[in-house]
Amino acid sequence: MNIAVYGGSGRMGTVFCDYAVKKGHSVFVIDKQTPKLNIPFYSRLEDVIPSVDTVVDFSSPQGLNEIIPTIERFHKPLVSGTTGIGNDVMTKLKEAGKIIPILYAPNFSMGITLIKILLKNIPQELLREFDIHIEEIHHKNKKDKPSGTAKMLGEILVNPEISSIRVGDERGIHKIYFYGEDEVIELSHRAVSRIIFARGALASAQSIINMPPGFYTMEALWTGKK
Ligand code: NAD
Repeated sequence: MNIAVYGGSGRMGTVFCDYAVKKGHSVFVIDKQTPKLNIPFYSRLEDVIPSVDTVVDFSSPQGLNEIIPTIERFHKPLVSGTTGIGNDVMTKLKEAGKIIPILYAPNFSMGITLIKILLKNIPQELLREFDIHIEEIHHKNKKDKPSGTAKMLGEILVNPEISSIRVGDERGIHKIYFYGEDEVIELSHRAVSRIIFARGALASAQSIINMPPGFYTMEALWTGKK
């Protein structure tokens, strides 16, 4: 595939580009900053979008907001992992999903996708028997708080309290505590490397180029449901 990587000079974009190139794809970076890798670089998405199969975004809420009209105009599939976006940008993404395939995931890892599918299958009446708390830990340069992953898991668990810690170079830890009467369940996920997100984003890009218009999540890749 030919892939435009918006935010391709950042921490996550760099890991994604490196991974996609090693898997035999051609990548083009669009960013405000020059890429760390030796990769074709553009400052405007418009200059490269006609020649790509799909756009992958790891930028910022503002960056994602800026590219939605271009993606719609050129009818290109979009995979976005940018977190911290507001309801306004989410609404625009869902609108765009009416004319092009869009896959949005605050976490591309297989582990968090598995946890999400598990949580969605817990009956609400059983869930109500527990006090639930989510704890998330990320590197100190992470811009949003709580993490997009914690918010996504929190929505399924009917908005439990979330605590956030920003420390060191941590790639991402999410722990969910279920406090019942005389028992505690702990579900925990740790990203050991950013490769797990790159792998999921590339698999998403490969899948959505063949999908009809729609707004998809990571579960769509595994369950076939949107
Ligand atoms: P970063 O700050 O290191 O990189 C962001 C890059 O985007 C920078 O190079 C910046 O110059 C560029 N950028 C931002 N706004 C732009 C704009 N308007 N126009 C052009 N370029 C712009 O951040 P990061 O750690 O790489 O994370 C990027 C995003 O990806 C964050 O929202 C983060 O939470 C998210 N993320 C998602 C996943 C996932 O699995 N979905 C995993 C890791 C990070």
